[in-house]
Amino acid sequence: MVSNEVNQYIEKIIPARSEQVLKIEQYAKLHNVPIMELTGMETLLSYVRLKKPKRILEVGTAIGYSAIRMALACQTAEIISIERDEERYNIAKENVESFHLENRITLLFGDANELQKQVENYAPYDFIFIDAAKGQYQNFFDHYSSMLSPDGIIVTDNVLFRGYVAEESGLESRRLRSLVKKIRSFNEYIMQHPDYQSSILPVGDGMMVSIRNS
Ligand code: SAH
Ligand code: MG
Repeated sequence: MVSNEVNQYIEKIIPARSEQVLKIEQYAKLHNVPIMELTGMETLLSYVRLKKPKRILEVGTAIGYSAIRMALACQTAEIISIERDEERYNIAKENVESFHLENRITLLFGDANELQKQVENYAPYDFIFIDAAKGQYQNFFDHYSSMLSPDGIIVTDNVLFRGYVAEESGLESRRLRSLVKKIRSFNEYIMQHPDYQSSILPVGDGMMVSIRNS
């Protein structure tokens, strides 16, 4: 991971967002909604701009911040995004409507482990962004990677989990150790996967970029 100083430096020179976007960032901060860190967000947007996906699947909407930012960064993209927390889903709906993006962002309410049928209706996806419960990444990958188009991209957030994945010992709770084990195993699985070329970027909380062989 980059140091705090470096991270702050990068954040300082990232161009200002619109008032409307800032409002969502402030809401998230105030209510402890774990939206993407700014440096991670900008990096994700670079990939979206390069790829210009027609259809994006997002696992983990929260209040719609990353979905809205991706939609603004790529005017031709349609986004399907899944959220299981009802309150967040409702706020996401309001936010999407306030940007008049409801024609390009479809929000699905429910557990991503149970929505394969609905998500399939909009497939294929040329970009999948996984940003939900870290312990379930393998499940999400198993449910949705078959809906990725050839040469599609999967970006997975939080794969370095505050650097814990690199720690040999000292992880206090059993729950933390078990979570770290799952993330490591997912990371190794993807890095070795014959159908993808992957790299891990130490921005934000760690981001895996996997490009499917065409
Ligand atoms: N991508 C968002 C942040 C998502 S935070 C942004 O950057 O703006 C992760 C979200 O995933 C949380 O709101 C959580 O409720 C949701 N989530 C976790 N596990 C999930 C699951 N199995 N199905 C659907 N949503 C899930
Ligand atoms: Mg995240």
